[in-house]
Amino acid sequence: MALIVQKYGGTSVGSPERIKNVARKVANFQAQGHQVVVVVSAMSGETNRLIALAKEVATQPDPRELDVVVSTGEQVTIGLLCMALHDIGVKAKSYTGGQVRILTDSAHTKARILNIDEAPVKKDLDEGNVVVVAGFQGVDENGNITTLGRGGSDTTGVALAAALKADECQIYTDVDGVYTTDPRIVPEARKLDAITFEEMLELASLGSKVLQIRSVEFAGKYKVKLRVLSSFQEGEGTLITVEEDQKMEQPVISGIAFNRDEAKLTVLGVPDKPGIAYQILGPIADANVDVDMIIQNVGHDGTTDFSFTVSRGDLDKAVKILEGVKDHIGARAISSDKTMAKVSVVGMGMRSHPGVASKMFRTLAEEGINIQMISTSEIKISVAIEEKYLELAVRVLHKAFGLDAAA
Ligand code: ASP
Ligand code: MG
Repeated sequence: MALIVQKYGGTSVGSPERIKNVARKVANFQAQGHQVVVVVSAMSGETNRLIALAKEVATQPDPRELDVVVSTGEQVTIGLLCMALHDIGVKAKSYTGGQVRILTDSAHTKARILNIDEAPVKKDLDEGNVVVVAGFQGVDENGNITTLGRGGSDTTGVALAAALKADECQIYTDVDGVYTTDPRIVPEARKLDAITFEEMLELASLGSKVLQIRSVEFAGKYKVKLRVLSSFQEGEGTLITVEEDQKMEQPVISGIAFNRDEAKLTVLGVPDKPGIAYQILGPIADANVDVDMIIQNVGHDGTTDFSFTVSRGDLDKAVKILEGVKDHIGARAISSDKTMAKVSVVGMGMRSHPGVASKMFRTLAEEGINIQMISTSEIKISVAIEEKYLELAVRVLHKAFGLDAAA
């Protein structure tokens, strides 16, 4: 007998019919002798609808009240799923985040989980119940309702699995696993049977938005066995695991990730002297703007150009900040480009296989794609390119690294 946490996303519970389908899947699992804890998202579109509603009554909804409103989506789903389970003869009990006591900090709309009281859930399971928990929400020490950020139900699932020491955390979604890249761009993309946490983090942070990134960090930290699989199709999905668990010979590259949402800023003609990077990026960080790639060119006349990328939504804010510091640091001008994209090759294998970077650059060169910035980590090489070349770049790299499915 195993203890399994299953998380069902918004599409999987998107209609009464689909909720009944989830109930049948859960009932099947329980009938096989497993204890099942289910975490659900709001029905698809519901969280967006609630946020839009809040924005209709206030230009800037108060974060505490916004959490009160958006957390209701999940509350509806837990009740409906329990009713559907009862209807087919399965004992089930629903819990909001506050009722389980998923204790979080007080950072409304992006709270972090501090502790989960697993005892009541265990007791219910031992009495033969399926326990259904609302994803995405918790409660702070003063009893305020909090939410964990968009996509936060994944994190609820993983955190519960960690607290309950579950045998596996299964994330049911509308895709059947993690792919080598987005199949909408590369039809030859393949589903991966297994991938490491590190690789998944790189793929997730780079835009393969299968799982909330925080849930993957959490799973890696607490060694939760995590599996992504489809609610609509049978299959083993993709196992996300620690490296040691992988027995098979792995290819050098596991996937090609990309992100369209990039913008580049360049501070032109700044003096080439100590402290400049800090004076440029300090105020950017203070404004909570994440900087990704950074490049500094050495000029010959004692000045240099300093470029970096931010997400497109932060561009205007960043430009304003730079305009504010421009004179102080002695820069000539600020320029920006909001049509950038980032493409990355990701794989544990590159730690032991040299030549990945040169192969990547050669492949892009052969297509006449200009690389504007480069950044690397142990298991990833990323380049910033013009957005219009993004799909081409992903396709040729997918092929060059042998990821295309055999015809
Ligand atoms: N319902 C929330 C959202 O749409 C949380 C989740 O689905 O994971 O972001
Ligand atoms: Mg999701």
